[in-house]
Amino acid sequence: MTEVASEVSSKFGAWLRGVREDNGYSVRGMAKVLGVTPSYLSKVERGDFTPLTIEKLVIVSQTFNIPIPTLLEKAGRCEHCGGFKH
Ligand SMILES: [Zn+2]
Repeated sequence: MTEVASEVSSKFGAWLRGVREDNGYSVRGMAKVLGVTPSYLSKVERGDFTPLTIEKLVIVSQTFNIPIPTLLEKAGRCEHCGGFKH
């Protein structure tokens, strides 16, 4: 992972944890909604993994009522094609 990607991952993870806590979800509860394991979600929140896939971002958008463009921005993705910023 490049330094830039890892910085995006850390920021996205911290932000996602805030969204989860603000909505009263446990790691386990949110992981279930997203269809991932709790350990995977914990790693995303710690910035150990790159931000969630587009499919998971869509679920986050629908579950927490967050606009897709906001999520893509937070996840360091292009708002036009969904790929990593280029
Ligand atoms: Zn693009």
